[in-house]
Amino acid sequence: MILLIGNWKMAPEKASDALSLAKKTLAIARTYKKIGVAICVPTMHLPFITKQIKKTLAVGAQGVAAMSEIAQTGLVSAGMLKSYSAQYCIVGHSESRARGETDEQVALSAGLLLQKKIIPVVCVGEKERDAHGWYLSTVKEQVEKVVTTIPKAQLKQLVIAYEPVWAIGKNAVREATPVECREMVIFIRKVIADALGEKESQKVTILYGGSVNEQNAAAFVSEGGAQGFLVGRVSLDARRFAMLAKNIALLA
Ligand code: PEP
Repeated sequence: MILLIGNWKMAPEKASDALSLAKKTLAIARTYKKIGVAICVPTMHLPFITKQIKKTLAVGAQGVAAMSEIAQTGLVSAGMLKSYSAQYCIVGHSESRARGETDEQVALSAGLLLQKKIIPVVCVGEKERDAHGWYLSTVKEQVEKVVTTIPKAQLKQLVIAYEPVWAIGKNAVREATPVECREMVIFIRKVIADALGEKESQKVTILYGGSVNEQNAAAFVSEGGAQGFLVGRVSLDARRFAMLAKNIALLA
């Protein structure tokens, strides 16, 4: 099933606006049932959104502590997210990595989430590209660390989002092409296959993220080999998110 996950980051500011956007997104999920729709919301909004929205639209978080000890000021645990019915959680987003989240922490967080039956959406991606292909080793290390840390039996619950940092957000250098996406989907599967075997590599879901919109999304699936998307800005605009869902539902 094609997966469409919205990453709301730090928006909306007001609880009432967050609930209204969640309800509009629920309507989108109900209309396009052939695809899986989820929203990863600010932790602050998670409890009341999951209370109001229980079916069809999956709700998740955007970060979790990499350790289960209770003395971690300012962090939330996988168990807390579970108690508010989170179904997904983003880890390793480039913005979190820029704040210091390491490959080790990303892998530990993914493991703790899986223990609580929350699907980790692990973001990987290079900051920039170079003509020699050195950027591939960055992505290789990010992927290897996660797939060799979590139990093999849980690979089928793992979601990896390939997000080239240079293509994300309003400061993006440019959009990635579907061909670039396809190369990286193949590369990520190869890294998993080298570490754990070909059969295991097929179990992982690979999404694309980075300036995805209603116009470019379909090609990332049909030509780019993406099994869905992690979407930032467009997920905050219900009208555009609905168009995006419609366009990829046609391929499902
Ligand atoms: C993101 O930050 O995960 C993202 C993909 O953002 P955008 O869609 O706005 O580029």
